Amino acid sequence: ESRTRNPKVVGSSLVPAGIVGGGSECTALSPTFNTTTEVPLSKAPNPQLLPGRRCPLLRVCVHAVCALNFSPQESKSFAVNMFKGQISTSQVFPFPSVLNEEQSQFLKELVGPCSKFFEEVNDPMKNDALEKVEEHTMEGLKEMGAFGLQVPAELGGVGLTNTQYARLVEIVGMHDLGVGITLGAHQSIGFKGILLFGNPQQKEKYLPKLATGEHIAAFCLTEPASGSDAASIKTNAVRSPCGQYYTLNGSKIWISNGSIAEIFTVFAKTPLKDEKTGEMKDKITAFIVERSFGGVTHGPPEKKMGIKASNTAEVYFENVRVPAECVLGEVGGGFKVAMNILNNGRFGMAAALSGTMKGVISKAVDHAANRTQFGNKIHNYGAIQELRNEKMARMAMLQYVTESMAYMVSGNMDSGATEFQIEAAISKIFASEAAWLVTDECIQIMGGMGFMKDAGVERVLRDLRIFRIFEGTNDILRLFVALNGFQVKGERKHCREHNCLRVHSALLMTLYLPLFVCVYSFSFLRASRSVSQGHPSAQHEKMLCETWVTEAHERVMQDIKFLRSGTSKQIFKNLRAISAAVVENGGVVSPHPLGF
Ligand SMILES: Cc1cc2nc3c(=O)[nH]c(=O)nc-3n(C[C@H](O)[C@H](O)[C@H](O)COP(=O)(O)OP(=O)(O)OC[C@H]3O[C@@H](n4cnc5c(N)ncnc54)[C@H](O)[C@@H]3O)c2cc1C
Repeated sequence: ESRTRNPKVVGSSLVPAGIVGGGSECTALSPTFNTTTEVPLSKAPNPQLLPGRRCPLLRVCVHAVCALNFSPQESKSFAVNMFKGQISTSQVFPFPSVLNEEQSQFLKELVGPCSKFFEEVNDPMKNDALEKVEEHTMEGLKEMGAFGLQVPAELGGVGLTNTQYARLVEIVGMHDLGVGITLGAHQSIGFKGILLFGNPQQKEKYLPKLATGEHIAAFCLTEPASGSDAASIKTNAVRSPCGQYYTLNGSKIWISNGSIAEIFTVFAKTPLKDEKTGEMKDKITAFIVERSFGGVTHGPPEKKMGIKASNTAEVYFENVRVPAECVLGEVGGGFKVAMNILNNGRFGMAAALSGTMKGVISKAVDHAANRTQFGNKIHNYGAIQELRNEKMARMAMLQYVTESMAYMVSGNMDSGATEFQIEAAISKIFASEAAWLVTDECIQIMGGMGFMKDAGVERVLRDLRIFRIFEGTNDILRLFVALNGFQVKGERKHCREHNCLRVHSALLMTLYLPLFVCVYSFSFLRASRSVSQGHPSAQHEKMLCETWVTEAHERVMQDIKFLRSGTSKQIFKNLRAISAAVVENGGVVSPHPLGF
């Protein structure tokens, strides 16, 4: 109901005028389906019989869910419903537009100064060389309120919504990902737990100084033996007999802001009595730990491939006395706290990386337009023109899709959606892979110049690499998407009993299809909005989407065909065998062609 642009009531839903099936704008984007319809696709044996058969996007969905063949159940998440064989548009249609007049105006007032600061004050190359954010930049950011963007105004922050936050993070991502991680490790994960789970006393005590940047925060989950498997942490906190404090021992590695933080959100195992069995069991609890408690030290800053300006260090906790009132959330509920913090912050990554892509696309365009070779500007050569056109178009599509996902997720979060985790994970996976491709392509377009430090793009490529690894590796997040998609009662069993897809096929399908479909849908819906609003770029956006969706459909259909073929079984078998041999041999198996 909060999305109220020219609403037109169709059935029980609100959709913007002109986007209902059959409307002219809708036809312009090719769909013939009524977007208010919930389509129980898994019941449909023949995709050709379904409404929307002329829409490539919906065809992708139909084939995907028919292939998965799972039973429909209730959920509001668009992505979860994809797994169930339903197109449920309530959370994604129309494309969110959640800022009111006042919020838009406030944001506009922040965008200008923020961009100016990054263009004129911050020096990303210097930060990279120094392997720290320059002091005057840190001070400038603090003065702008950049350390407390989402802290409520009454506690000293700027009080931004997720969508407003995304817009500013995009500017940071365009200019300096090292600074982005310094800010993000502080507020997107460092003290996010206090915002989400803190009680009023904790919020009042910690947030004001964190919002001004007087205190920097860090998020401490990873340990030497515990990365993706976060539940296996060894850091422990034992409650004192008097119950007034916990004694914390352990160490955490690769902690962003680890050397400069004063406040840490630390995850530790605490022995707890199981109410049912009376047995003692270790459960994870989250704590707010102040450096001033004593016993908190850190190692030297890590030497890294990228985001060098961001501080990363090991943090040690040795007999730290943590007051019981510093427990964040429930005792034993720390895993949930950690996952919620991470889920909550992921949309910011997509927003930042869409900004990064915008920045490098401009550089590529500029170079291609101005580079002279063989006595002529390179873009005037036919073959180069074609090649460049394709490259530029693909880069623009990747940026558009990433941006659409970021604002779809932030908008849903601002509308009060509670089921956004899968979409947020998809946005992180997609954004981090798209940004890598776009930046790599930018370097290619720039030729040798792209490889030079002075051009500033090699740093971006180095900085980007970590985004596919931290806050959940993309491999783990793909599994997270797939497994959560099957969380609904009975579906895993259904899959097992009916052996509806071979294990490898199921994996591939589940890892890629709903992911693809969500990505396409979100950009599609954004383009629909632009068309219905008669936006000057509407035709361009429509073309981006049509091209994107049509290619996607072809790709997905080929994947499905391949998975259904006998060949795929043999290929997967071969891949397993090759991998096993390489692992057993400790490296490549084949002898050198020269024999030595
Ligand atoms: C620069 C930097 C900053 C960081 N900042 C922080 C921070 O502020 N706070 C914090 O707590 N942590 C931080 N980390 C840690 C980061 O979150 C972890 O590196 C990440 O979670 C992955 O863990 P890992 O490196 O131990 O990889 P591993 O878990 O060892 O994984 C190695 C590889 O195996 C794959 N893999 C593992 N298990 C499976 C599986 N079941 N199925 C398929 N594939 C699998 C992974 O995808 C990955 O490709 C940071 C790391 C870096 C490098």
